[in-house]
Amino acid sequence: MAENQEMSNKLDERFQHSAPRRDLMEKGAILQRDGSYAIAPHIPGGVITDPELLIRIANVAKKYNCPALKVTSSQRIAIVGLKEEDIDAAWQDLGIVPGAAIGLCVRSVKFCPGTTFCKRGQQDSVGLGSEIDNRYHGMTLPSKFKISVSGCPNKCMDSMVIDFGVVGMPKGFTIYVGGNGGLDPRFGQKLIESQTSQQVLALLDRTIDVYKKEARTNERLGRFIDRIGFDRFREKVLEESLVH
Ligand code: SF4
Repeated sequence: MAENQEMSNKLDERFQHSAPRRDLMEKGAILQRDGSYAIAPHIPGGVITDPELLIRIANVAKKYNCPALKVTSSQRIAIVGLKEEDIDAAWQDLGIVPGAAIGLCVRSVKFCPGTTFCKRGQQDSVGLGSEIDNRYHGMTLPSKFKISVSGCPNKCMDSMVIDFGVVGMPKGFTIYVGGNGGLDPRFGQKLIESQTSQQVLALLDRTIDVYKKEARTNERLGRFIDRIGFDRFREKVLEESLVH
């Protein structure tokens, strides 16, 4: 995908209107029970190769008297308990642009260590997950959209209960679509097996294209698939992608 096309997709204003009340979306700040805010620097896959980042996060928490740091389910480290007036300065001290932790968009892409670090890994989940994060993180869509890549069938990244779940198998990646957790949890359905990283990217492109054009606001991918039917969804996604 060309970079300018990617950016224009990310700025689609149709889906910018249903923020939870009082979260400060433009600052990536989430309201806490006590009226303070949490910010969660974007750390793709939760992989930190530069210890300086951890030091900066710790220093910000110390400087602004934050009572807690919290490792989140989306592989971030949240700085909890910021005053509203300190949020901008905290991001500046971190040297990081506010990430898309909230709202109707592609949230953090979760990926496991895969063949990079894990002895059970069968596919390169770090490479594929990083590329997906790079292309899609923060893109606005009809509802929140979660993606994960697991490097083997153990599915440590919950790839069957997420909107677009990818699982490394001996012969390539298997893709599941339409899963989610939350109040009404559901498993995703198997879209296709034995795909290369490039094929997964092409199918994700096509999935997002179909979903963005045809889903209703706040309709998660699983509900959208229910409405149009899995066979029809599969046809639409496969017909214009590189694989059949
Ligand atoms: S899913 Fe497999 S490769 Fe990934 S962390 Fe779990 S066991 Fe390791």
